[in-house]
Amino acid sequence: MKTHRIATIPGDGIGQEVVPAGRQVMEALMKSDSNLRFEFTDYDWGADYYRKHGVMMPAEGLDQLRDKDAILFGSAGDPGIPDHITLWGLRLKICQGFDQYANVRPTRILPGIDAPLKRCTPAQLDWVIVRENSEGEYSGAGGRVHQGHPLEAATDVTIMTRAGVERIIRYAFRLAQSRPRKQLTVVTKSNAQRHAMVMWDEIAATIAKEFPDVKWDKELVDAATARMVNRPASLDTLVATNLHADILSDLAAALAGSLGIAPTGNLDPERRYPSMFEPIHGSAFDIMGQGLANPIGTFWSVVMMLEHLGENAAAGRLMAAIEAVTANPALHTRDLGGSATTRQVTDAVCAAVSRA
Ligand code: NAD
Ligand code: MN
Repeated sequence: MKTHRIATIPGDGIGQEVVPAGRQVMEALMKSDSNLRFEFTDYDWGADYYRKHGVMMPAEGLDQLRDKDAILFGSAGDPGIPDHITLWGLRLKICQGFDQYANVRPTRILPGIDAPLKRCTPAQLDWVIVRENSEGEYSGAGGRVHQGHPLEAATDVTIMTRAGVERIIRYAFRLAQSRPRKQLTVVTKSNAQRHAMVMWDEIAATIAKEFPDVKWDKELVDAATARMVNRPASLDTLVATNLHADILSDLAAALAGSLGIAPTGNLDPERRYPSMFEPIHGSAFDIMGQGLANPIGTFWSVVMMLEHLGENAAAGRLMAAIEAVTANPALHTRDLGGSATTRQVTDAVCAAVSRA
């Protein structure tokens, strides 16, 4: 039996509530399955660490994570510190440092959840959005000149490399091929952005030839938002740039009922480095510290982590427990229209896991 070494980084805001809840669920899984073993190391990095040390994580922080099998992350973001400092100082440092270039975001409407979309049955909405996670609009290239003067100028330069685009599109085709419908939608904005996005289209057409059994089409990102709302069942797997997929996946989360449910994995598909799993929501300043955060997005992220670690039976057991709990409206948190607390939902999922 392999012991999986798990790093937990709660970070800021409700990250400090949902990540311990995620760990509690993993401990419940371990207790009820003698073939499953996790060893946890917790890191206190984030905004409080920044206030003490002037950095979100120590300079050699990546070295402390390097030998872990996976990372469970909460959120970076604090009301008192500019967002670009918290984001770049922690989450992006790990994503980029470990070249986690594939950000994978599944969307389904879980049992019992009242989702705003009336144009499909819950069973018809089953998407995975693949987000390029290492370059593009969030490459960090650019700068500011004449700062503070009237002639100030600022740039954020989009960097798209052929290697970077090829690897994410190939990953998306592979993922689409592994799913029952074998269908991929390549999202770009190649009418207006006539250089990098045109290269995406060209690369997609070339890579598609490696996957003759995958049906694929193209959609412009603005049209993709309308298609998600109007013809949700026409989509299965989507691939898009860092910025576009960031926005599309928040829309997807809302269409599935709440930002509090949606999970994500930041993957290094080549497994050179640990991959990182996190709910897609942020620090949720408006509810932090009140025990109201929905932990389901974190639990579903743990499911993705377990699949990544090859623990498919445990992943299935946890997903079934999550679905049993969402099916009961008495266990819905406030974002879902209920009044259950983080602790009640967590205890219920732990109990369901132990029964399974
Ligand atoms: P947010 O996701 O924190 O909150 C948006 C809204 O959704 C809020 O009303 C919040 O209460 C609600 N919400 C989110 N998660 C919830 C949950 N689990 N249960 C119940 N309700 C939930 O987004 P924001 O307000 O734009 O950002 C707040 C901070 O978080 C900012 O500093 C931002 O930079 C940061 N952020 C970090 C990450 C990350 O680290 N991955 C992602 C997004 C935002
Ligand atoms: Mn986002």
